[in-house]
Amino acid sequence: MKAIRRFTVRTVLPTALAAVGDLAANLRWSWHEPTRQLFERMDPERWDELGHDPIALLGGIDPARLDELANDSAFVADAEALRDDLRCYLGEPRWYQSLQNAPERIAYFSPEFGIASAIPQYSGGLGILAGDHLKSASDLGLPLIGVGLFYKAGYFRQAIDRDGWQKESYPVLDPDGLPMQLLRDADGAAALVTLALPGGEAMHAHVWQMTVGRVVLLLLDTDIHENSEALRGVTDRLYGGGGEHRLLQELLLGVGGVRAIKRYVEVSGTPAPEVFHTNEGHAGFLGLERISDLIAQGLSFDEALQVVRAGTLFTTHTPVPAGIDRFDLGLIERYFSTELLRGVDVADVLALGAEDYEGGDSGVFNMAVMGLRLAQRANGVSQLHGEVSRGMFGALWPGFDQADVPITSVTNGVHAPTWTDPLMVGLVHEKLGHFETSAADFAGPAITDGDLWAVRRAMREQLVADARCRVKAAWEEENPGIAAPAWMDSLLDPDVLTIGFARRVPTYKRLTLMLHDEDRLRALLTDPERPVQLVIAGKSHPADDGGKALIQRLVQFASAPELRERIVFLPNYDIAMARLLYPGTDIWLNNPLRPLEACGTSGMKAALNGSLNLSILDGWWNEYYDGENGWAIPTADAAGDGAERDKLEADAMYDLIEHQIAPRFYERDEHGVPRRWVQSIRHTLSTLSPELSADRMVREYVERLYMPAAEAQRIISQEDHYPAKHLSAWKERVRAEWPSVSVAHVESGGVESPQLGDELEVRAYIELANLTPDDVLVEVVHGRARNGDDLVDVQRQRLELVSHDLGQPATFAGTVRLSRSGSFGYTVRVTPRHELLASPAELGLVAVAH
Ligand SMILES: *Cc1c(COP(=O)(O)O)cnc(C)c1O
Repeated sequence: MKAIRRFTVRTVLPTALAAVGDLAANLRWSWHEPTRQLFERMDPERWDELGHDPIALLGGIDPARLDELANDSAFVADAEALRDDLRCYLGEPRWYQSLQNAPERIAYFSPEFGIASAIPQYSGGLGILAGDHLKSASDLGLPLIGVGLFYKAGYFRQAIDRDGWQKESYPVLDPDGLPMQLLRDADGAAALVTLALPGGEAMHAHVWQMTVGRVVLLLLDTDIHENSEALRGVTDRLYGGGGEHRLLQELLLGVGGVRAIKRYVEVSGTPAPEVFHTNEGHAGFLGLERISDLIAQGLSFDEALQVVRAGTLFTTHTPVPAGIDRFDLGLIERYFSTELLRGVDVADVLALGAEDYEGGDSGVFNMAVMGLRLAQRANGVSQLHGEVSRGMFGALWPGFDQADVPITSVTNGVHAPTWTDPLMVGLVHEKLGHFETSAADFAGPAITDGDLWAVRRAMREQLVADARCRVKAAWEEENPGIAAPAWMDSLLDPDVLTIGFARRVPTYKRLTLMLHDEDRLRALLTDPERPVQLVIAGKSHPADDGGKALIQRLVQFASAPELRERIVFLPNYDIAMARLLYPGTDIWLNNPLRPLEACGTSGMKAALNGSLNLSILDGWWNEYYDGENGWAIPTADAAGDGAERDKLEADAMYDLIEHQIAPRFYERDEHGVPRRWVQSIRHTLSTLSPELSADRMVREYVERLYMPAAEAQRIISQEDHYPAKHLSAWKERVRAEWPSVSVAHVESGGVESPQLGDELEVRAYIELANLTPDDVLVEVVHGRARNGDDLVDVQRQRLELVSHDLGQPATFAGTVRLSRSGSFGYTVRVTPRHELLASPAELGLVAVAH
């Protein structure tokens, strides 16, 4: 029988255990090992059973056991000490508190947050990254507020049927069973966020608050009785629906999210955000709500846009146009021809997302394009992805070289305390006395090769045990009442070279590349001397039958009796599995089609635990591979076609495993330690771990993007937004005049027969129409001239105004030092200049000498 309704009865903790309740309420437990150990002590068996979820543990623990613990003075004292430690963590000054003029608050919007496996509000890398961003923000002391949606069923749970086909189920979460509380107004009523919809309807949402260390996370939830049945389902699942459903989610996230922050700020009496960071385009509507607020204060749309842009950062995550949210123009028009945003004209909204550039589609509204237009600062998530993004969005800045497109990059990182295995932390604690691992721990002699190898084996063993459990549990689920076959108890071997591969299953990630030559793979797996074993996991998007077919092919291959103990597909990849999987693998494999992996973070998490990467030079690996921390699979992008490329890359991968990886792994000294291999582990841990940490990433965001954005938005908002009004009028004037701006003539001299060190004198005559010389930046652009006249290794140098006679072109001049031998080319370009612009390309206007 099925229940028609369910709810969770919260456990009432004995007063002596109040500290335990406080510890469970703050998600710092998701990365704070001592706190997790305290929960484990309460009931080790249930703790394992419940997937290391403190809230479920407190809900499910036997009251008699609670009484026992309440009377255990050592336990109570430990709990209280940990609570004191938490309070200290929450209040003490940290890195951010040493900065001057840093933003008073930063809002971070994301459609998903992966914080702990007990809270499945993520589908993959984007969400986990957002979770790690919050955790590092907390550790560094950032006054950050996260904004997202509360999905009733989160992302799906994956099972694999007997034919190897993926089955999805959507276990419903009970908000009362999660560590979160409703945001309440001063009068105690649940705060209600309301959005006007077409046809006079309205969508309402409650706001849940989670506490992630020092960071508050607000999650909007439409499953409340104030809504119609249909609208209650808006936050049903992560990416649960198509066009309109998705649009409603994004309206709620962006517009509703800003409204939720306003309520939170009111109720808590804490500062409002100065900087808004949108993790991918889904939350882009947040800028429109802020524009609407500024219009209510008397600004025009364009003036308000200047203010919003100044304080907004847009992070793009996808290197493929197909990965971007695009809505039917008519749908957007319908939703914004309402009372949703006071004072905002629908035509202005449509213009922001219009693909009105070469190659664009005039029938769609593009969320990434709007994101870029609403944000003065934008970034990709690895150096290579920055480059790819500058190419992909270059049409928005016509006339500029790709390198000038104002999209920078901040390479992702991962939250080390979450992703470093407790066994590794334990080793560092035992040998060096501290809990937070650092690069230096592995550089010195305190931890020997033998120690490192022992902990690596223990982690592999832990993965093997977990894999056996999962495979048996999956069998029992599919075959109720029939005992799992005995071979499952000898699945995988804790002493065999273990290769891991786990990620979502879109085509570009090439889940089945390893099956390209099945015989060759079979030979690697069953090699009598130097066998290899493979652990694989990943969810296919529910609507992607192609992805499911890949999983099926793999599962079927792995079911052959002679292989099944060496290659296994583990169903339901999630944070809990990942935490054991990365540390337990010796090699983390990644073989995307370059450059389609924007960054990739699983390999970083593996590296933090001493796994070596074997990967295509894509995403983060492209910038961090150094020859010693793993292996690079050469990219065959010059291959004739996709099939040829797959073949070349698969062959290279097999070769590396057979000839380099396996020999090194199995080459042992008299104590059974593979010295050479351990040397690579040590090198990886001592050089890569600081670079790969989310602390490095968040610091970069603060220093390179949040601080300048806060500064820009302060300046532009001064004196009743006078600078914004001025900037808006200036842009309008510059846009109107620009068609008449040109480089009339360029003269040069000073070099007869050019030699290194000579100075080239350049004089440029610029037609300014009705602009003044102060409105423009005139630069010599110079570099090496390559085939034809293309400039490479480009540098720019500003020319200064020499004279400007009325009715004549203005004269600008300067000198360029010839500091490189070889072919030299130059030209002159003019761009708009204003102190409030963050980049000369910002307006997409340029005039170049002909
Ligand atoms: C890290 C992680 C991902 C993302 O991995 P990529 O390498 O970026 O694809 C996905 N799912 C889980 C559970 C993760 O922990």
